Amino acid sequence: MPQIIDGKAISGAIKDELKNKVEELKAEGIHICLAVIQVGSDPASSVYVGNKKKACAYIGIDSLAYELPAETTQEELLALVGELNARKDVNGILVQLPLPKHINEDEVIRAIDPRKDVDGFHPQSVGALCIGQPGFVSCTPAGIIQLLKRSGIEIAGRECVVIGRSNIVGKPMALLLLRENGTVTVTHSRTKDLKEVTRRADILVVAIGRPKMITREYVKEGAVVIDVGIHRDENNKLCGDVDYDDVAPVCSAITPVPGGVGPMTVAMLMYNCVESVLLQ
Ligand code: NAD
Repeated sequence: MPQIIDGKAISGAIKDELKNKVEELKAEGIHICLAVIQVGSDPASSVYVGNKKKACAYIGIDSLAYELPAETTQEELLALVGELNARKDVNGILVQLPLPKHINEDEVIRAIDPRKDVDGFHPQSVGALCIGQPGFVSCTPAGIIQLLKRSGIEIAGRECVVIGRSNIVGKPMALLLLRENGTVTVTHSRTKDLKEVTRRADILVVAIGRPKMITREYVKEGAVVIDVGIHRDENNKLCGDVDYDDVAPVCSAITPVPGGVGPMTVAMLMYNCVESVLLQ
């Protein structure tokens, strides 16, 4: 049977390390504060925001919550971001996505001071990642690198295939694997013969957004499979983009859903909040 990569345990270890670091910083008189802005009351977003607040409380990071009505205008949101950029006691700013349709997400992300961009979505953060300079890294892919490293999985020199090229997961994932000296291929909806490409992977990262699409025909015997997808299946059970029961017997290591990649995203957000103090 494969190694089950335990995101719950690994994220717990990271949060405990951060908790100690935050205590040390507090002893030096340094407090960390994250501002979280949610516009509207999308239930999934409310769950994510709640998890972020809980993690802040556990680690000892102060959090400011702004729950704005769905009718909030672009100008009002930009004004709040500007105000938080200027506040010396606020280290990180997170605008929960997606935003309501009448708000231009790109413009809001660009308005965040890159030194407070703990989600790592600002073009300056993405550019810094691309050319290997310090900056915030998008939390989900950063968490996947931690899962691999802390599970003793070598990246350097190995064939890494990423399925999906979104700005939030696929693209930064490819850049991070490259930074770790993997040989990286990015595939997407226009890739011809996807199975032929994915079967080359020693490490396969799946971020498609299609429940259980990846079956064992896509996976080389002994590969490491990382499943980013989160869905509810026909029985209302959580599942990923990978058909876990079909794939697990043929791979060497795999992340479950839930309990794999999911918990890492919040842990890495907390990591970025602590880093923000060092960047500022
Ligand atoms: P997205 O919809 O923005 O991107 C999906 C990508 O998959 C696209 O680049 C597309 O080209 C590619 N794709 C679609 N159909 C394909 C096909 N048939 N063959 C090959 N490629 C195909 O999604 P995203 O934001 O990157 O998220 C992907 C999944 O990960 C979703 O299920 C999402 O809910 C989940 N997610 C989880 C976390 C987490 O914390 N665990 C974080 C972000 C996203």
